[in-house]
Parts: sequence; structure tokens; C-alpha cells
Amino acid sequence: MRLIEVNKAFATDEQCLAYLEHKRWPNGVRCTVCGAKEVSKITRKTASKNKRAQVYQCLEKTCKSQFSATNGTIFHDSHLPLSKWFTAIALIVDAKKGMSALQLSRHLACNYRTAWYLSHRIREAMDEPDGLKLTGTVEIDETYIGGKQRGHKSKLKNKDVVLGIRQRGGPLKLVQIKDSKAGTLYEAISKHVDAKDTKHIVTDDAGAYNFRLTKFHNVKHSKIRHSRKEYVKGEVHTNTVESAFSLLKRAVIGTYHQLSIKHLQRYLDEFGYRFNRREDADIFEQTVSRMAGVAPMPYAQLIEEHAFTPFVRP
Ligand SMILES: [Zn+2]
Repeated sequence: MRLIEVNKAFATDEQCLAYLEHKRWPNGVRCTVCGAKEVSKITRKTASKNKRAQVYQCLEKTCKSQFSATNGTIFHDSHLPLSKWFTAIALIVDAKKGMSALQLSRHLACNYRTAWYLSHRIREAMDEPDGLKLTGTVEIDETYIGGKQRGHKSKLKNKDVVLGIRQRGGPLKLVQIKDSKAGTLYEAISKHVDAKDTKHIVTDDAGAYNFRLTKFHNVKHSKIRHSRKEYVKGEVHTNTVESAFSLLKRAVIGTYHQLSIKHLQRYLDEFGYRFNRREDADIFEQTVSRMAGVAPMPYAQLIEEHAFTPFVRP
């Protein structure tokens, strides 16, 4: 679904709520408190226009809770109309280079803080499932992303290492790592690469890539000698992970001028999520479905986690 279709299909909060209901309860509405099936739809008089008018009433005598499809999800207690949420989701899933809170605030005509909080909550649903394990031919390479950080003189200290792992013709995983020592690399690789179903690992010729004493000892390992300016030797290359890196770097430079290193992994997850679904026509629907299953994230908790540093700065 593209933005224009989203805006048309979800112009009102009633339309958005009906869609969330369908995603959340494909087999019929259940009470969010006790799980009862016997519920009735009621229209509640609203004191303020921000309150949802349509709610469900649980008919279970001991429960009697009132709820809506947003209860207990990341959409809960938001003062922002659902139609703006849906527009924001459509914009973010379509932004190949990412979207800063400033850009989002302009699109939605809301203030920066609202856009910042909103984009954080949408990103929360973009966590890859832990089960993402790459197989087949897996290319591994590192790149440096970074930021000007005051107080660091050395150039390298200003940058963070990002390990890119990509299944050829398949998904990408980007991991922020503290250094490129063998142990650090292996920790990230072993988490995201399947030792059984991987046939071939391709890396550069850095000595830190050595799998002989690891669970990957039976997997064919080829090295492309970047140190000797060698880049492609038949099947042996890391070009598909490098093409993802160049897109990532353009995104970082073009969109997030001062990406805080502290939040880099979140951004990498978002980038990977979108990258891995770039061919999916239903990325919008997938994302809304995930959000209907993500717990609320109170603003206070978020700013505590982030110590008041916005994820992206204008
Ligand atoms: Zn109930």
C-alpha cells in the first residue's frame, strides 16, 4: 500500500480502528482483560475529542471491562489521531533512506517531540524476530559509520564498526560492534548465521575471520583479498553486502546528519527491516500487524532510556 492509498483507506479513526481490530482479532473480538468472547460494541460519550468513541464492553459478569483494539498495544493512550499514525507508518516504511523526526513532523504537521516519540514507537515494531538466521552463501564485511563526537581526536575513534552479514539473494543483518577483533566478530556472526545450512562464507582477508575452531569449521570459507585490491574472484566477492553498505551510508549522510552512536543499532535494525522487505508489497500491512502486537511504550520510559537525547537531531 502506498501513501496515497493509505490516506484514502484510513482517512478516519473509525477506519483505522476497524483495521486494527481485524489484525488483532482475526477470529473475533476478545476481551483484552479476561479473554472472554462475549462482548458488545458500545458508543461511549466522549468528553474530549481525543477519546475513542467506539469501544467494546466485556459481558463477563466479573470483568465488565471496556476496551478497544489499541488497548495494551503500542497505539495505546496516544493523543494523536490514528489516521496520523497510519500516515507516519506509510511514510517510514517507504523511506528507503530513513526519515528523521524533523521530516516526519513536517509531513504530519505536528511538533518535533510528537514526531520523535511516534517514530520511536514505529521503530519498536521493526525489530527483526530473533529467529533470523542466514543460510546458503553468506557474505560478511565491516564498514565504519560515524559521527563527529566531540573530545575524540583520532579519526577512527569517531567512527563505529558495523558488521554486515548478508545471505546472497536474501536478507541482511547489520550489527554494531565495539571493535573488529576475532572474538567480537565471531559473537555477532554465530548469532545470525546458521552453522548447519550455510554452505559458503565469504569474507575479506582480515586475519580476524578464522572459523577453524568454531561451529562453522565444516563450512567452506573463502577470502577475497581486499588488502591486495582484489574484489571479485568468480563466486568469491562481498559485493552484495557492500551494496547494502553504500545505501546505508547514503541514508546516514542524507537523512541523519548527526546520528548518535548510542542509537546506531536501532537505526541499523530499522534499515535492515526495510531493506529485507523492499520487494514486499505489503510492508505497510506487515508493520501495522506487528505494532498491534507490541506493548505500550510510555514516553517517560523512552526518555529515560534515551536520557533525553533525541534519536535524530534536526
Ligand atoms: Zn473481560
